[in-house]
Amino acid sequence: MAALVLALVLALLVGGTVPRAEGPPGHDTRHDAPYDATPVAALNQKRVVAISLDGLNPDALAKLGPARLPHLFQLFRQGAGTTNARTQVEMTVTLPNHTSMVTGRPIGVADDAHGVTWNSERAGTTVQGAAGHSVSSVFSVVRAGGGRTALFSTKSKFRLFARSWPIDRTIIREGDDTTLTRLFRADIVANTRRFAFLHLGLADVVGHSSGWMGSAYLKAVVRLDALVGSVMATIRDTDRLRRSTVVIVTSDHGGTPGTKSHEDPARVENYRIPFVVWGVGVDHAGLYTLNPDFRGPGTRRPGFADPQPIRNGDLANLATRILGLGPVPGSVWNPRQRLTWHR
Ligand SMILES: [Zn+2]
Repeated sequence: MAALVLALVLALLVGGTVPRAEGPPGHDTRHDAPYDATPVAALNQKRVVAISLDGLNPDALAKLGPARLPHLFQLFRQGAGTTNARTQVEMTVTLPNHTSMVTGRPIGVADDAHGVTWNSERAGTTVQGAAGHSVSSVFSVVRAGGGRTALFSTKSKFRLFARSWPIDRTIIREGDDTTLTRLFRADIVANTRRFAFLHLGLADVVGHSSGWMGSAYLKAVVRLDALVGSVMATIRDTDRLRRSTVVIVTSDHGGTPGTKSHEDPARVENYRIPFVVWGVGVDHAGLYTLNPDFRGPGTRRPGFADPQPIRNGDLANLATRILGLGPVPGSVWNPRQRLTWHR
């Protein structure tokens, strides 16, 4: 008997040849799960609409002004925002930065990163496969809490998210921001989406074809302002949405004026982005004023060891906090959900 117990203990110590109830021998099923499905607190009555304006250099706001961007300026005038937030440290490209927005993790290859370092649609890939371990997201946390989610994007590479987490509805309209926004508005009216993500790629597409901050690019930003305004109008005109919805608008990266590029992560024009929160319960203030724990970075590019600015990667745990949920398991940015939208 003692020998048998000793053998079992030894087997466990050396990595387990003892069969388990689930999964192949020697595997810890907790780590095989693609994401943590344990509910973290309970959903309140709120909803979050997250809008990412791909490639929005905040200098476009200053250049165009409130007369040409009435809705984006309304977000800042009524909500809590900054035009001096930051992208991820490592890269200023779309898919890696959006993966950070929804997971709250940095990009890189460290244990706590998400590992999505590519920027194209790669069939069959998952974020968990990229990371080599379980990765949760705002989508999986809301699902674990019993809420429904949606993802609307103008780029097919966002299918990565639908392969990685349970998203109740994923709609891709490649390069068709107008149709996508119309479908998005209809969806949030017809369904109770606790977290709905809208990615609009127009500014980035025009930046790549005509150059950042040129006239075609600025025209695209004006068009995006109208689309954001249409989502705001849908929320304002629908009682239950107006009473429950918080909108977060940010970007994955900016872009370098006079070029068709945003890939250099060391350039301020690429790493500086807007971040604004608007809607029910949101106080009007600068986000850095409301959040002294976060440090306005000036024109700098803070690294991991520096005092942290507000980043696009803070979105995940801002959204979960707004919804009354705990932080995304394994998240690194804003893990104590300190970023606030009210006094
Ligand atoms: Zn781009």
